[in-house]
Amino acid sequence: MRSCDVLIVGGGPAGSSAARRLVRSGADVLVLDRESFPRQKLCAGWITPEVVRELEIDLAAYPHRLLTYPRLRMHFGRVQLPVPCVQHSIRRFEFDAWLLARSGASVEQHNVRHIEARDDGYVLDGQYRCRYLIGAGGTRCPVYRELFREANPRASELQIVTLEHEIEYDWHDADCHLWFFSQGLPGYSWYVPKEHGWLNVGVGAIAERMKARGQDIRTHWAQLAAMLERTLAPGARYDPTGYSYYLRGAVEVVRRGNAFITGDAAGLATRDLGEGIGPAVRSGLRAAEAILAGREYRLEDVTGVSLGSIARSMFDRSARAAARAGRRGGVEATRSDTWPMSP
Ligand SMILES: Cc1cc2nc3c(=O)[nH]c(=O)nc-3n(C[C@H](O)[C@H](O)[C@H](O)COP(=O)(O)OP(=O)(O)OC[C@H]3O[C@@H](n4cnc5c(N)ncnc54)[C@H](O)[C@@H]3O)c2cc1C
Repeated sequence: MRSCDVLIVGGGPAGSSAARRLVRSGADVLVLDRESFPRQKLCAGWITPEVVRELEIDLAAYPHRLLTYPRLRMHFGRVQLPVPCVQHSIRRFEFDAWLLARSGASVEQHNVRHIEARDDGYVLDGQYRCRYLIGAGGTRCPVYRELFREANPRASELQIVTLEHEIEYDWHDADCHLWFFSQGLPGYSWYVPKEHGWLNVGVGAIAERMKARGQDIRTHWAQLAAMLERTLAPGARYDPTGYSYYLRGAVEVVRRGNAFITGDAAGLATRDLGEGIGPAVRSGLRAAEAILAGREYRLEDVTGVSLGSIARSMFDRSARAAARAGRRGGVEATRSDTWPMSP
């Protein structure tokens, strides 16, 4: 039987963040993932400056596609609100594999099915033994299913359904666009360009509310695709795939004995925008720190909202612009540095 100090189920952002912190402190870490990396992960791939900071990524040295937006364009019906701020996009196919390799942990491809709690730790599928166990296996994480589901049942009103596709496309508009509540959608649609001619488009909404309104996500997808054909992405061809995950609810139990749950396994995506990479990274780091320092695993500083982060980025940007203008002898901020801006 293979033994290790810490076994992490899932090599996404939660798992690789925890792995890196633990390996750097000398722990013997094994990551099991049912997929072989690089693997496809349905995700728009928008990341915040906080994610870049927490992961200690040197943007100039990141070896894959990374695009920085000077603004987000939020649409509410006919009203367009350009939000000057700094945000980024990556391709998950590249990003997750890079993070996992960078963690320095041992990685094996294995689909975890059964977990047995013993006095001195955990045994997985009769093949792997560990003292600490981190569940970072996303929405269908077996650690959640076997050890945490009873204590934290999923709240159906927090389930999001999505349809998305990432394609090679020679886009011309490099801004990230978000359309809120269009055609009564209880959620939003997105257009997220990636560096060097890749584009991610999708629709996400609260499943229960859509059902109550008699709506179908495929109808919303068709409306988005038709709108993009007329405007931002003429000629693009899609074959979208669906996925569901959970927004942040009352997560009561995140540690049992020496087992932890993190990221989507714990249902931590933000309530307002369904941002899950940031909460996955931070919870993975907090689980690692709890193991290393022998302290409580707490998620108080894992935010449940994204708009605060966007507002912070907006004000940081304005402050930098004001400082630059001050250095230029009081010249007024440029048009794109003002808020609110006209389209
Ligand atoms: C369409 C869509 C768009 C999104 N867009 C964004 C966005 O732009 N920005 C953002 O911040 N968030 C976004 N999210 C949310 C984000 O993708 C997730 O919250 C994030 O990936 C969670 O990270 P994680 O590490 O917890 O789980 P994951 O990234 O899902 O990783 C879990 C890993 O566990 C592995 N695994 C699962 N089961 C097993 C098993 N039994 N045995 C072994 N391994 C297993 C999987 O193969 C996977 O590699 C989006 C989600 C969707 C669906």
